[in-house]
Amino acid sequence: MITVMKFGGTSVGSAEALKRVANIIAQKEGEKVVVVSAMSGITNFLVNVAENPQLNLDTVVDQFAEKHLMTAAQLFEGDTYEEFRTEFDSRLEKFKKAVSADRNDPYYVDALTSQGERFSSLMLAYVLRDMGEKSVAITSEDAGIYAVGAPTSGSADLLITASGMTMKVKPLLAMGVIPIVTGFYGINSEGRPLTFGRGGSDYSAAVVANAIDADMLEIWTDVDGFMSADPRIIPDAIKIDEMNFGEAAELAYFGAKVLHPRTIEPVRLKHIPLKVKNSFKPDEPGTLIHHLRKSKNALLKSVAAKTDLSIITISSAEIAYRPAMVARIIDKIAEINVIIYSISTSLSTVAFLVHNNDVKLTLRQLNGLSGGDIERIDVKNNVALICAVGDNLLDKCGVSGDIFSAVKDAEANVEMISEGASDVSLNFVVPMSKVVDVVRTLHEKYIGEAE
Ligand code: ADP
Ligand code: ASP
Ligand code: MG
Repeated sequence: MITVMKFGGTSVGSAEALKRVANIIAQKEGEKVVVVSAMSGITNFLVNVAENPQLNLDTVVDQFAEKHLMTAAQLFEGDTYEEFRTEFDSRLEKFKKAVSADRNDPYYVDALTSQGERFSSLMLAYVLRDMGEKSVAITSEDAGIYAVGAPTSGSADLLITASGMTMKVKPLLAMGVIPIVTGFYGINSEGRPLTFGRGGSDYSAAVVANAIDADMLEIWTDVDGFMSADPRIIPDAIKIDEMNFGEAAELAYFGAKVLHPRTIEPVRLKHIPLKVKNSFKPDEPGTLIHHLRKSKNALLKSVAAKTDLSIITISSAEIAYRPAMVARIIDKIAEINVIIYSISTSLSTVAFLVHNNDVKLTLRQLNGLSGGDIERIDVKNNVALICAVGDNLLDKCGVSGDIFSAVKDAEANVEMISEGASDVSLNFVVPMSKVVDVVRTLHEKYIGEAE
């Protein structure tokens, strides 16, 4: 039995948390590979450094080292501390190089923001060693996690990663060693770090589970499992016992931050079940996500919201009769790798939903479309996509009517609808100012009471 266990930022965020996590790992039977995020706050700190070239780099290095060394001083003493310090110092030299490298290098941000995981993994390996376990910290470079794609939005190459990990990580398991692997990034064909987007350690763990044919992936975080809504918006959100891969994938893609949007695919491909568990309450059962479909009577299971989006509406006479024109528009947007969260068409308009940050680039790209075809482009900023997920949602009669009546109760205007794209979810767009009201109303009417 091989388990991949991933621990997020808060789960490794302090000396106490690291000890708690080390106990969870030590108690797990069978072979295990651990994937970790940076200590909480560290990646935000590094992103801030990347965005502010005026910061004093010596101070940055001191602050970064201090945060980790303060925790290490609470954890280690004597020879263990000395040994830890030697490895820490050699990693800190690499950190200094990354932070003072040429900012025009396209991989500067990836090389810098992926630093946090290199230090949290080292600390966790030492905590385990101190407890008498055999454990090593292993970077994505050394583990053989390969990535492709543009800076800050890499994807793993599953096949090459599988052969890399078979050579580099599997032998450690055979020797009874627990590898602690850095989450969040892989290396590209030039050996440069490529990050998987914010929150990417969940995806790293799923990639590792796929690569080593694990029997189970456990995502350990700071809440009891996958909940019926973001507990920060709905404090009485309910923990979901079981979900299928499709439901979890839709919710993660459309804003449920508990899983990185791309976590499901690598495990679904190999039918590896996934559990979401609370590292602060390890005895709680968590949520099991697997390939089974189990119907429940509740109309809705969970609601998520993808915020900070914009609708770009392109008007052109009878565009519906000109599919080549629609294809050209989509091709143009695809060239710049902008994610389109939803598309809808009418006789003379095509509307796209993209992230607020991608609007400028998309408009520039569309302006390059050849002469006179586009009559007008309108942009509506600051909207959000609500994703409502339930078992066989669209097979149930009148579901959309019920959901939209709840939206009306929240006094929100529906700006765009994408029902039917997936049989488990109903997605629609509302103004950002109404997100909390809509999620709360849907939750109250169809989840809170239905249970
Ligand atoms: P980690 O550092 O462990 O990866 P994250 O902060 O990335 O943790 O994700 C966990 C957080 O996701 C929770 O604390 C919660 O606030 C938020 N969240 C949003 N939607 C959901 C949901 N549907 N179920 C559980 N947590 C959610
Ligand atoms: N440390 C990275 C981040 O904060 C990756 C992760 O936490 O999953 O985005
Ligand atoms: Mg996360």
